[in-house]
Amino acid sequence: MLPWLDARTYYRNRWGSDVGRIGVDGGFSCPNRGPNRSDPGCTFCSENANRPPYQAGAKNVPQQVQQAREFLTSRYGYEHFSLYFQAFSSTWAPVDRLRQLYDEALSCAPFVDLTVGTRPDCVPDEVADLLAGYQTPEREVWVELGLQSCHDSTLARVRRGHDVQAFRDAAARLRRRGLRFTAHILYGLPGEGTAEFLETVRYALAEGVSGLKFHDLMLVPGTPLHRDWQQGLISPVDPQAYLDAVAQAVVELPPQIVLWRVYSDPEDRKGPPLPGQRWSKNRFLNLLRDEVARRRDQTPATGVN
Ligand code: SF4
Repeated sequence: MLPWLDARTYYRNRWGSDVGRIGVDGGFSCPNRGPNRSDPGCTFCSENANRPPYQAGAKNVPQQVQQAREFLTSRYGYEHFSLYFQAFSSTWAPVDRLRQLYDEALSCAPFVDLTVGTRPDCVPDEVADLLAGYQTPEREVWVELGLQSCHDSTLARVRRGHDVQAFRDAAARLRRRGLRFTAHILYGLPGEGTAEFLETVRYALAEGVSGLKFHDLMLVPGTPLHRDWQQGLISPVDPQAYLDAVAQAVVELPPQIVLWRVYSDPEDRKGPPLPGQRWSKNRFLNLLRDEVARRRDQTPATGVN
């Protein structure tokens, strides 16, 4: 058992069983990438909306759901599913189009939740209203907001195209409607280290997140940040430094906060190798578990909230 509330434990506690997450690509883009996903975007962005092999050939969202459901049921025996609009900014469309897409996808299976990943500046009131309408006693709605950093100077430096106020505004809209939301936070953005990462975690908690996703910055070939690394302007994230930062964050988290992700498995990634050292996911999780236990043994349980 992990010493933090991971997705599996959350789902078991909430729904009494394991839940298979079905990630779908609704064909969205994002304000940074423009209508065709072709503009430069954030300097770290390598979004290519790759689908898992079991969704190959699916022509639309219902087909993606159907193929994923068949695979997850036969491979893992899942009976409950989460619908995750994952690719790009999955609220960046007119509300009528969003309603049509979400309705169509939700009709494909009895999902225990609808999760949409998006940018903080893509959740106006009418979108928040739409999402709130999908909440029922049998179905939660989660909004995953890309915060990345609580420092405006960093957001400007990586060309996010929104500021921290945008997150503050989105969080307020979601809170008012009783919607759960997760903040996605990057460790190791240019000019940032452990102190800035922990400040962002604490900021997100103060804004009322119900969940967090952590990710160490990856310098993906083809991105502006990878070119900066080639020119010796930045360094890859040190996995030990990232581990220490995440351990400190975990120690400070209130126990009800869901940690949806703390590390990505490098084996899941296709394409050319990344600069820097990458640990396997299992190695990272084992070391993190030990480090969190060690810190909890040494630290009075005060928390940050
Ligand atoms: S907002 Fe997301 S999808 Fe758009 S450019 Fe930035 S990281 Fe990429």
